[in-house]
Amino acid sequence: MGAYYDEIEIEDMVWDAEKRVYHYPCPCGDRFEISRKQLRDYEDIATCPSCSLVIRVVYDPLDFEDDPDEDEDEGGGEQEEEDEDEGEDEERDEEKDREDEKAIKEALEKLSVKEVSRAVAIAA
Ligand SMILES: [Zn+2]
Repeated sequence: MGAYYDEIEIEDMVWDAEKRVYHYPCPCGDRFEISRKQLRDYEDIATCPSCSLVIRVVYDPLDFEDDPDEDEDEGGGEQEEEDEDEGEDEERDEEKDREDEKAIKEALEKLSVKEVSRAVAIAA
């Protein structure tokens, strides 16, 4: 190894709460980025999306190991909010599902009654 452009302390990087990444300016004009998930997974290489440079992030993995699990690798806080909303919806949907089930059952009963009477009508 030793191919890093630089070694940067995590304290010197900037936290982007929206994208949930730490970033540091890259000489190419873009910026190196590393996500909390990567840090938690003991990855310490922040990459620049615009060039081939990488930096090594100096940090304590213990600071990140209790981080809540995040399904998405990329994606910003927006997606996380959606996930939270989904959770609430699921609870609401459960009650709705029960009502739907009742409605379907009633509809089926009506339907079978209708079919039965139609069958009767055909038979007659
Ligand atoms: Zn760059």
